[in-house]
Parts: sequence; structure tokens; C-alpha cells
Amino acid sequence: MKVTAHRLFGHRHILREIQHVAPSAAELVRRSVRGRLPRTNIVLTTPQGLTELSVQTEIALLGGTVTPKARTQAEREMRWADRSVFGKAVLAPKGAVLVLLNARKVNHGNQVAPTLVHELVHAMQFTRPGITDLILAGLRDSYGLEPMLRRDERRYERQLKAHEDEAYRMEDRLTPQLNAYPA
Ligand SMILES: [Zn+2]
Repeated sequence: MKVTAHRLFGHRHILREIQHVAPSAAELVRRSVRGRLPRTNIVLTTPQGLTELSVQTEIALLGGTVTPKARTQAEREMRWADRSVFGKAVLAPKGAVLVLLNARKVNHGNQVAPTLVHELVHAMQFTRPGITDLILAGLRDSYGLEPMLRRDERRYERQLKAHEDEAYRMEDRLTPQLNAYPA
């Protein structure tokens, strides 16, 4: 799993910590959560970098045909949430996943393990049947390409909520096991 920084200087200590924890977090999540662990890149960045990389990745996933207006709109909607999240998992082209960590929040060793576990659970969820299609339909809607049907919208929201609940549950359950791993 590649761990890099984007739009950041320094942060060497926390990057090393992420690099150290990522393989055991991935192994623990892989054994405990339904799905398959996709190819995952981890990037530590600023809230602005979170928005920038999410939008860039989502547009690439959609195949690149998004108007500048829709792009600006999507960025505006994302920016507020990206200031307060610890991390997020973004589906990338070719079934890969980008895990973005907010350097303003994940700035202490204690925050690394729970955040990584949480986002890697999301990465696994993306590989389950039907989820990619649902995410793509959500993105086509967000980027003004094709509105989502009301029925699909409700299904999508229920799915997101269920995934979020599972990610928090696994974060609580798995993080203590991870901290018990020998360094
Ligand atoms: Zn989550």
C-alpha cells in the first residue's frame, strides 16, 4: 500500500506512523470484513487537498466528461465536509481505492489506527456486488450528468448509512486489536 503526502511539507513523523500501521490494519480488516481488499493508495493531505483529489478521482472514474460548472459545484458542496472529516475513501478507476487522510485531524499517532481501519472498511465495501454501480449513479447525479431516480436515491442513502454504521462498528472492534499488534 503506497502512502504519500499531497500539498504538505514535513509531517514525516505521522507519515511514518501511517506507513507502519497500514499493513497490519489492512490485514486485520481483510480478515474481518466481507468483500475483498482492493488496490489502495493512501494520501495524507490538507482539507483543500481532500476536495481536490476527491473531485479529480471521481471525474476520472466517470470518464472525464464533466462541465467546469458541475465541477465547481461539486467542489463547493464537498469543501465544507472535508474540513471536518478525519478521512474518506474514494472509488478510483480500475477498481482501485484512494484513502484520503485529513492532516489537520489525523495529526497524532492515536488517530491513525481508527481512521485507517474505518476507511479500509469502506474500501472493502466498494468491492461488494452492485456497489460500484450505485456509486457511479450517485456520481452521475452529483456531477449533473444524469439525475438519480427517487427510488435509487433512497436505496443509495440507505446503503451509505449501513456502510457508515458498519465502518464505525469495525473501527471500535478492530482498533484495540491493532494496538495490541507488536510493533
Ligand atoms: Zn465513513
